[in-house]
Amino acid sequence: MNSAKSLLEVQEIDQRLAKSRAEYRKIADLLKAKGDLKKLRSDYEASRLRVLETRLEHGKLEAEGASLKEKIEGIETRLYGGAITNLRELTALEEEHNITKRSLAAAEEAVTPAQLASDDAALRHDDLQDTLAASEKQWKTEASEHRKRAQTVSAECTTLESERNSFASDIDANDLSLYRSLLPRKSGVAVARVERGICQGCRIKLPMREIARLKNSDILVLCSSCGRILLAS
Ligand SMILES: [Zn+2]
Repeated sequence: MNSAKSLLEVQEIDQRLAKSRAEYRKIADLLKAKGDLKKLRSDYEASRLRVLETRLEHGKLEAEGASLKEKIEGIETRLYGGAITNLRELTALEEEHNITKRSLAAAEEAVTPAQLASDDAALRHDDLQDTLAASEKQWKTEASEHRKRAQTVSAECTTLESERNSFASDIDANDLSLYRSLLPRKSGVAVARVERGICQGCRIKLPMREIARLKNSDILVLCSSCGRILLAS
């Protein structure tokens, strides 16, 4: 009897090992990405900047309004103070008065939307702060669960590896190396059973002489269609 049966047992362990390793990698990726925290943190930072910007804009408009009001007061004092009697000078001052009043009206008109924008930005920032705090808390719990699971899976992998190695140590080195080279090329199925004359790896009916050879062979027999190691059932 050849080593196909032992190789099938090794393959079963290898398949479980591949599954566990894939799960481990998935958890590691999750831990690395920290759930959706990265995106939330960047949104939070953007909202903080937006609060500063809108506050600055609002403050600027208010200061502009105050300074225009002061300027108008100054003009009015000169205009109505009676000290200026020159007509050209009076006309020029009136013109400046009108222009400044128009500027004040424009600044005052812009204050309300700027105030609203600033209030909106503050609200959004507060919302994001709450969401971020809740997510950080939730992630802490999730991450600890992920880490626990990762430890379990890692221990499983170690056990499976040693189990696989102990099985493999009894198998002929050439057979084992053939199995190892086939495994990645045959999507994790290097050894296929033969049932009712059909290779279970490729589902193709084997020629009679191949089946006969398989039954009496001391060396490994490969499927003539898919190249997998055959195991007679
Ligand atoms: Zn086959």
